[in-house]
Amino acid sequence: MAQPPVIVWFRDDLRLADHPALHAALRTQQPLVCVYVMDDGSNGVRPPGGASRWWLAQSLRALAADLSAHGQRLILRRGAAASVIPALAQDSGASAAFWTRRYDQPGIAIDNQVIERLKTLGLSGGTCPGGLLAEPHRIANQAGAPMKVFTPFWKRLLALGDPRKPLPAPQALPPPVNMSSEHLDDWRLEPMHPDWAVGLRECWSVGEAAARVRLSDFLDDIKGYKDHRDRPDMLATSRLSPHLRFGEISPNEIFHTARFAAEAGRANGADTGKFLSELGWRDFSHYLLHHFPDLATKNFNARFDAFPWRDDSAGLRAWQRGLTGYPVVDAGMRQLWHTGWMHNRVRMVAASFLIKHLLIDWRHGERWFWDTLVDADPASNSASWQWVAGSGADAAPYFRIFNPVLQGEKFDPHGAYVRQWVPEIAGLPDSLIHKPWRASPLELVEAGVALGTTYPAPIVDHDTARQRALDALRTIRV
Ligand SMILES: Cc1cc2nc3c(=O)[nH]c(=O)nc-3n(C[C@H](O)[C@H](O)[C@H](O)COP(=O)(O)OP(=O)(O)OC[C@H]3O[C@@H](n4cnc5c(N)ncnc54)[C@H](O)[C@@H]3O)c2cc1C
Repeated sequence: MAQPPVIVWFRDDLRLADHPALHAALRTQQPLVCVYVMDDGSNGVRPPGGASRWWLAQSLRALAADLSAHGQRLILRRGAAASVIPALAQDSGASAAFWTRRYDQPGIAIDNQVIERLKTLGLSGGTCPGGLLAEPHRIANQAGAPMKVFTPFWKRLLALGDPRKPLPAPQALPPPVNMSSEHLDDWRLEPMHPDWAVGLRECWSVGEAAARVRLSDFLDDIKGYKDHRDRPDMLATSRLSPHLRFGEISPNEIFHTARFAAEAGRANGADTGKFLSELGWRDFSHYLLHHFPDLATKNFNARFDAFPWRDDSAGLRAWQRGLTGYPVVDAGMRQLWHTGWMHNRVRMVAASFLIKHLLIDWRHGERWFWDTLVDADPASNSASWQWVAGSGADAAPYFRIFNPVLQGEKFDPHGAYVRQWVPEIAGLPDSLIHKPWRASPLELVEAGVALGTTYPAPIVDHDTARQRALDALRTIRV
């Protein structure tokens, strides 16, 4: 009799290398059913935003092609995973199922349901690590409680010893089992009318192979990361975030490859250390979401529940469209719209502007990023928004209000970033590029700028907005 197959359920781990669940399945030496389930959103799992859906489509295509090159096949199914996976197990006669563990509470609840149902069907297997450097249950403070501050968290994580070494990609995969699959195009993950994904296609190569090339290119150029990572006018960061988001490369592979590069003298130790600690922020965000499941919707610091947010749909719209009149904020918002990604420093400045200059609830910004970022991540996005708002764990103090002019002048000193994304003011000299309203009428004419017509005047005055934010803060006595 033919051997029963084993299911490998792919999720946010769309790769073949360093995939412990795939390796566990391969150890059984049985045929494989490789499946991806598009959740129907009925179970508390947040549906992906538009840009993430676009990335997901490319990533699934890349994974399907990689599997096919190994003689395998990716089965696509839609629905509630708690029903789809057990049904697939029954249809295929599988004897086991393996998948990568997740740490968000709705995800854990679904996984537990699947495990229970598979058990009743007599299947073995279960979840494997693979998405984080360290699983959240391994880290706690001395009282056994969740840690809320990054630096001790990171120290504790490093003190656990080296993260798991990455597993190699399998050389060969057993043949597929004949199962029906839905068609990716029927899922309509990509925009059609209008096709707003042009910029995304221009900017990104998606999939595991592309992720590995990006890591390697980045490590070749990592020199200066520590000093230049805040500069949006330089390509100084890895831009690995969407690849990590969809698990096209594992954090463990990145960790060990970067460390090896440093040990081999290919990368500078200080730059590598800083880069790895940024990767640590990703783990920290997932750790926070694990322990505080409402991170995307509720203030971590409940005092902010009483914060006097303003209802300002015109301000929100100007921010979303990159028309606030503050060039670095507008550049960031347009980079986001065009490429699905924004530089970290500019994310902080743009988010701060929405929250503190406009006093618009951080949740509006979080939702916009969720829809427009290709790396939109349930943990990192909410943790970062709350960090900027001052309501989060280990958050920036609320009274630290970024001045968008000074931030622009410091981190985009020659205005190259602003000129790229806000071309209508590109003709202004460096000294005015971050504050066009300070230009004289003659300077504006010479630069071809008609303030209020070709580019907006600032929608709020910085000093007034700053004072208003501090006054609002006083009402909740943070
Ligand atoms: C308001 C706001 C929203 C954000 N939303 C997201 C999001 O949805 N998804 C996301 O991946 N990151 C988010 N970030 C964090 C950060 O901006 C991005 O991870 C980073 O810009 C990605 O670029 P990179 O890959 O070149 O980073 P690098 O500097 O090369 O860092 C390497 C990796 O470390 C991780 N990382 C770096 N910084 C952070 C951070 N502050 N928090 C968590 N992980 C980090 C990312 O996975 C990143 O790919 C947000 C930051 C802010 C301020």
